[in-house]
Amino acid sequence: MATINKNFTKLPGSYLFSTIAKKVNEFEKANPDANIIRLGIGDVTKPLAPSVISALHSAVDEMAHEETFKGYAPDLGYSFLREKIAVSDYKDRGCDISADEIFVSDGAKCDCSNIQEIFGIDNTIGVCDPVYPVYVDSNVMAGRTGLYNSDTMRFDKVIYMPCNADNGFVPEMPDKAPDLIYLCFPNNPTGAVITKEALQKWVDYAIKNNSVILYDSAYEAFISEENVPHSIYECDGARKCAIEFRSFSKTAGFTGLRLGYTVVPKSLVVEGVELHGLWARRHGTKYNGAPYIVQKAGEAVYSPEGQREIKENISYYMENAKIILTGLKEAGFESYGGVNAPYIWLKTPNNMTSWEFFDYLLEKANVVGTPGVGFGPEGENYYRLTAFGSRENTIKAIDRIKKL
Ligand code: PLP
Repeated sequence: MATINKNFTKLPGSYLFSTIAKKVNEFEKANPDANIIRLGIGDVTKPLAPSVISALHSAVDEMAHEETFKGYAPDLGYSFLREKIAVSDYKDRGCDISADEIFVSDGAKCDCSNIQEIFGIDNTIGVCDPVYPVYVDSNVMAGRTGLYNSDTMRFDKVIYMPCNADNGFVPEMPDKAPDLIYLCFPNNPTGAVITKEALQKWVDYAIKNNSVILYDSAYEAFISEENVPHSIYECDGARKCAIEFRSFSKTAGFTGLRLGYTVVPKSLVVEGVELHGLWARRHGTKYNGAPYIVQKAGEAVYSPEGQREIKENISYYMENAKIILTGLKEAGFESYGGVNAPYIWLKTPNNMTSWEFFDYLLEKANVVGTPGVGFGPEGENYYRLTAFGSRENTIKAIDRIKKL
């Protein structure tokens, strides 16, 4: 008799985006003339850079000829791409990472949810609150989190590390160190960053406690300030305690094309075993490689024109972020993020709950964002706006909010 993985039944319903869609649909039905502006999306809107498009076209043409046709890609990625990543994203920033420590994949979401498979089921996990939900959910499916308490909105075996205005949205180190520590900077949803000194402390803490840091830097390309690390490997000792995830999604608009990578240094050893070997085994068994044409597109991102073009798109989004942040501050909102990240995290006025504020903005300004509580209980009384909309809509939305 077949049975199910009962851990899946412990997952709380993923109501956030479906509830948002339902509320917006109902509002649109009742108010057909309302011009709703969506600043809740975490997806890019600008098209791919011309050099990426041109690389895609020529890779597709290669697939049309016997001499240049490509079948399965190497499971860990083509070396033309891994070499570029190792040099541009790491060596040029002073990080000691080599091409064979880079595992190319179809995006950071799969990697940061699959990585837990190489760790023992009894490992404790530490996550920020609020948090990108994938880290917790993937551990729920694996059976590592205990039961969900709908009153506290927490799993009993997960170590939650509150991130709020008091600590600058950077978590404090728990007294009892989690075995696996998920960190994400620049952060989704708060837009916060961590300084190099503060990240170094996390690295030292992980080494001292034999913990592993799972560092998601999907938004590193949005960093504009000095002294904000782009990679955890800028910190001394990180090669011994950290795995890093990167994505081409927001950096180069690949959300629909799919490309990312994970770095597992060979010097990262747990119980005498190199995690690099375990992840290589896992990757090779369950994944057949990112498509050649997509990896060629990824390579084009590292060309001088590619870099110039993607930076133009990032500047466009970050100008939107500035418009949102300045507008909100002028309107008297306590607001965070938006300087090194495409997310703006604002405190709801008059202690409104995240959902009350959602309804209020929808009704009064016809603007849609994301209720902060959807990312964890510490997100209550906060609201997330994103900079990925068009300039016109961003300006319009902020004007409407200011007029309220
Ligand atoms: N990590 C964070 C923090 C994200 O916000 C996202 C996407 O929104 C991802 C990872 C997923 O990236 P990808 O599109 O590469 O799967």
